[in-house]
Amino acid sequence: LGGLEMNDKQTLLGHLLKLLSRPSITPDDAGCQEYLANELTGMRFDCRSLRFGNVDNLIARIGTTRPILCFAGHTDVVPPGPLEAWHSDPFEPLVRDDHVTARGAADMKGSVAAMLVAFANLHSEQALSGSVMLVLTSDEEGLAVDGIRPVMRQLDDSNELPDWCIIGEPSSEKVLGDRIRVGRRGSLTGSLTVFGTQGHVAYAELADNPLRRFAPALLALLNRQWDHGNDYFPATTFEIVDLTCGSGADNVIPGELTLRFNFRYSTEWTADKLQQAVRALLDSNELRYELSWHDSGQPFLTKAGELTGVVQQSVRSHTGLDPECSTGGGTSDGRYIAPYDIPVVELGPVATSIHKPNECVSVNDLMTLSNIYRDVIDALLINRRC
Ligand SMILES: [Zn+2]
Repeated sequence: LGGLEMNDKQTLLGHLLKLLSRPSITPDDAGCQEYLANELTGMRFDCRSLRFGNVDNLIARIGTTRPILCFAGHTDVVPPGPLEAWHSDPFEPLVRDDHVTARGAADMKGSVAAMLVAFANLHSEQALSGSVMLVLTSDEEGLAVDGIRPVMRQLDDSNELPDWCIIGEPSSEKVLGDRIRVGRRGSLTGSLTVFGTQGHVAYAELADNPLRRFAPALLALLNRQWDHGNDYFPATTFEIVDLTCGSGADNVIPGELTLRFNFRYSTEWTADKLQQAVRALLDSNELRYELSWHDSGQPFLTKAGELTGVVQQSVRSHTGLDPECSTGGGTSDGRYIAPYDIPVVELGPVATSIHKPNECVSVNDLMTLSNIYRDVIDALLINRRC
């Protein structure tokens, strides 16, 4: 490592430790954004703090012209869970060799620290042809109601919708850069109640067991091949997340059954079409039921283009890897950014430890990540050939 690189690494580690020592459990930002806004203001970014409900959000921008390259992320973290499972305090970051252990290290304060280092000296770049933006929320891990959604509406109102967006979610699988996310599956949860008639087990003819009635429909739901996926998405999956039936007594046929299930679906489906398909299946089994839905995100996809090309090229030049373009994993804030017709790519550290006890991240990886982010800025806004 050269002297400059060494300095950058110290700076990155410094930012990371400051962020990790703030216990910002959703939706509490715990001063992370204030710290970042101070740093960014010092780097000549224009910073706007937006509080919606009990959620802190930050928009920072350098440059006044288009195109706008936006980096996005969150300062909130999931709760640490049982402390006995941690080898150290989740909010007192432990630095050992190359690794930092603390809640939020990989998801995603590490990426935020890497972004900050990538933004250094942008103000002295005479040739910045466009703007760099950073958007942060503190409820990505929660409902996301007062976070990225009103922030995007605000950017739309002020005519500042980004032209490209990079989210720092931990996208890598085994080593940094082996995978980027170019889309996400949709998520749809159904809550079903099937009605029968309660009665005595010894007088089954006087009762109507809802489980007996529902069993064939459940098998059909489980066995159905919903689709075969497509070029970008794996096959749609149906999973049971809860099934409750029974009065607690051995001699009672239950009167109703409740089931909760979740679809992770490809672009072969829409939430509406899936709902219709489930209803048709239940109706064909002549069930009495009630069914309600929670739509937690439509699928989105960023097709191969300028952004994916530049990100892949930068990953390749810093890691030697050809990243897999994936649409797997859970949902992310990208689902609320992509619908504005903005290409979204997620690129961040290795995801192995996220949401677990002893969450950790490699500082060398974050330094490489920072260099990749910087390359993307250079390619899109500084060495732009147009
Ligand atoms: Zn995250």
